[in-house]
Amino acid sequence: MALSQEMDGTVETPDVLIVGTGFAGLGMAMKLLDAGHRDFVVLEKADGVGGTWRENTYPGCACDVASVMYSYSFAPNRNWSRMYAEQPEILDYIKHVVKERDLEQHIRFGTEATSYEFDEAADRWRVTTSAGQEFRPRVVVLAHGALHQPNIPDLPGMGRFKGEMFHSANWDGSVDLKGKRVAVIGTGSSAVQFIPEIAGIARHVDVFQRNAHWVLPKADRPLKQTERRLFASFPFIQRLYRLTAYWTHELPVLAFLNPKFLGVLELAAKRTLAKQVPDPGLRAKLTPTYRIGCKRILLTNDYFPALQRPDVSLTTSGIDEFTESGIRTKDGELHEADVVILATGFATDNRCATERIVGRGGLTIQQAWRDGMTAHLGTTVAGFPNLFMLMGPNSGGGAQSILFVIEAQLHYIIECLKLMRSRRATRMEIRSEVQHRFNARLHAKLSRSVWNSGGCHSWFLDNKGVNRQSWPGTGTSYWRATRRPDPQAFRLTNGGKRLK
Ligand code: NAP
Repeated sequence: MALSQEMDGTVETPDVLIVGTGFAGLGMAMKLLDAGHRDFVVLEKADGVGGTWRENTYPGCACDVASVMYSYSFAPNRNWSRMYAEQPEILDYIKHVVKERDLEQHIRFGTEATSYEFDEAADRWRVTTSAGQEFRPRVVVLAHGALHQPNIPDLPGMGRFKGEMFHSANWDGSVDLKGKRVAVIGTGSSAVQFIPEIAGIARHVDVFQRNAHWVLPKADRPLKQTERRLFASFPFIQRLYRLTAYWTHELPVLAFLNPKFLGVLELAAKRTLAKQVPDPGLRAKLTPTYRIGCKRILLTNDYFPALQRPDVSLTTSGIDEFTESGIRTKDGELHEADVVILATGFATDNRCATERIVGRGGLTIQQAWRDGMTAHLGTTVAGFPNLFMLMGPNSGGGAQSILFVIEAQLHYIIECLKLMRSRRATRMEIRSEVQHRFNARLHAKLSRSVWNSGGCHSWFLDNKGVNRQSWPGTGTSYWRATRRPDPQAFRLTNGGKRLK
């Protein structure tokens, strides 16, 4: 579109509007192209693609899912340098795919969708942006990520602290940690990746742990040249690696759903701890008090060794308050710090908490989700026609590679669009009774899972303790459920007329 059109406020009417250029949004763009759709626009609030892999730049940032499984099956990378790629390589892969598929022509960078309103007379969405543009797409696909709103804790006296403070997802590279006393709050997936990297650079690292996490070794290593050549010449060999990675994720899910089988995993984790941490005092502090899998298992080989360095200490007595110069723990000790890094995870209770999304009859997403986030197959929400979500409520969280989940959803959405076209529907909305029944079954199944009953509080649970993230089954079962939309589950209309 010409710049002059943008300036004079012309309304654009793409068939599909995608929001976000992480793995999900870009995958949607590619699947639309593959299905013959060219009339779509992708909005991206930042100035580059990559989503979480653009945002998270902390030292040591890497994926804890094997690269062959953490990439599009339809755009394989034969050249991964390691079994588990690091953030720069994943971001390069994403950029490479964008270039190869010529996706940039569809993307509007620096453009944040600020309001979505469903126009019932036209069966189109009205989307306005931070740049003052207006789009009237027939279909909206929200692909703006599940884990991107940093969770900033409200700890007593935080405002008093005179040093530097930032969240791991907003890593401040301008702060030189060399020779500084660094306090790290949190010991989840992000923290265990960067603590070994900053140990030895900082003068001292104080790690504040609230609950111990279960740790298993990460089967990471560089991929040999011969392996890479084999991947390039015989793609089925890489597919075999992918299949192995797939089942490595799939099998533990069976235990997560039937916690009586968790003993084997717990034994393996306890052995790892015993092998890597000889000091019984430290080992006791690092032994979780809940079942394995309740929180996401940490895969790392260098976290426990880092904690045993003389310039690293683990504090478990609980944070009492911040002072001007550091953090005082509940045992009265003051831990002086120049820099505090919050590795405190992400706000996940309602990922559309601040967004203006108004569906049918003036229903806002906040009203629809007043009792918690809920959707049908993590992709559609009753009251919001022609709107699809990627990584929506209860479609992932803790088991299979999220890329596998995303691909299943991309297929499902394309099938929904085909259904709309074949029925000549201008509006497609999941029936609320179908969504309700689906969620009743889903939550009944989840109640037995380790995520709900394992004795911990994780980001899978909302503030009422309801699991809003996990799919209560294997990746395979999610794949099966998303093969074809059931036309009976939707209300399909054309210009207000009901369609059979
Ligand atoms: P997280 O797993 O939610 O961990 C947050 C940590 O902060 C926990 O140790 C938590 O303690 C602590 N914490 C939170 N609020 C606190 C407070 N008020 N006081 C003290 N401690 C507090 O967050 P994350 O490490 O950023 O990881 C989040 C998710 O991102 C992961 O589960 C994963 O799905 C994804 N991730 C993936 C990768 C990857 O390699 N693919 C890497 C990084 C992140 P408690 O345990 O006591 O709650």
